[in-house]
Amino acid sequence: MGAYKVLIYAAAEETAGRLAALAAPLAEGSIVYLKAGSAFPEQEAAAVKAAAEAAGAAVLIAPASKKGNEVMARAAQLIDTGCVTEALSLAAQDGKLTAKRAIYGGIAVGNFAFETETAVLTVALSALAGVETAGAYEAAASPAAAPPPAKELVKTEPLAKTVDLTKAKRIVSFGRGVAKKEDISAVEALAAKLGAEIGCSRPIAEELKWLPQEHQVGITGALVKPDLYIALGISGAIQHFAGMKDSKIIVAVNNNKKAPIFQFADYGIVGDLYEVLPALEEAIGG
Ligand SMILES: Cc1cc2nc3c(=O)[nH]c(=O)nc-3n(C[C@H](O)[C@H](O)[C@H](O)COP(=O)(O)OP(=O)(O)OC[C@H]3O[C@@H](n4cnc5c(N)ncnc54)[C@H](O)[C@@H]3O)c2cc1C
Repeated sequence: MGAYKVLIYAAAEETAGRLAALAAPLAEGSIVYLKAGSAFPEQEAAAVKAAAEAAGAAVLIAPASKKGNEVMARAAQLIDTGCVTEALSLAAQDGKLTAKRAIYGGIAVGNFAFETETAVLTVALSALAGVETAGAYEAAASPAAAPPPAKELVKTEPLAKTVDLTKAKRIVSFGRGVAKKEDISAVEALAAKLGAEIGCSRPIAEELKWLPQEHQVGITGALVKPDLYIALGISGAIQHFAGMKDSKIIVAVNNNKKAPIFQFADYGIVGDLYEVLPALEEAIGG
């Protein structure tokens, strides 16, 4: 180990210190820190590339924030090299830099080896949380002036969000078992009685477009952890499971007793949701 020159890209010095501590066993000599700026990701990526070239860095790391992921992916593209996002750990094995990251929606961990000269990574925020900061880095030389922006920022306004499922205590979620868009009203009625938010599987949001994307639960949607998750007519595909597996109590209603969702439901009702829904509503009462 210890054969790589490392460049850290982060906004906060504390984060840079944690990344430096993580990268220290791999680093040869000094670790260079480029403070993240507020330019467009394209420009930030160009700055990362320039700073890495100036420092002769072969390992470029950043925290896996939204911005970190975007800037580093773009930097990797500019450098024409590989990028591992959300890395859980880094190591050097057989002369190659390797990084572990969650795969298959979080049910397994993959070990990736870089075949390229330069490795670009973002480190999962969970992997940084417990790391003691180390100030063993020096500031990168100011990169050459960023290229002029390809676009102009005219106005910023927050995206209108209808729901934040990640904070919901109760979620009533439905999938393709709901046959018609009008039938969502029955799901809404149950959710209203329970004071729950409405979630859905990907086909409902992405293919049928019955609900906006922020209602989608799963690896490509919201990762939720409510006290109660009711899944109506959802098969329980791995990509959906990955998004709701941390729910405290999972109740599944499905007319196929072999549906995968029953493997991880705390309570399962095998039956037609069109019969079970009114019965549930009645049982809950006013
Ligand atoms: C890269 C990738 C990312 C993905 N990301 C996500 C994601 O983030 N979230 C997600 O949800 N999916 C995701 N998917 C899709 C996922 O693989 C499944 O296709 C999807 O979850 C299935 O949705 P579903 O359960 O609603 O539909 P189906 O698989 O069609 O299941 C419908 C279920 O309803 C039951 N049913 C039918 N009629 C009734 C009835 N009357 N009463 C009771 N039950 C009934 C059926 O038995 C069946 O189990 C992803 C896929 C890929 C490839």
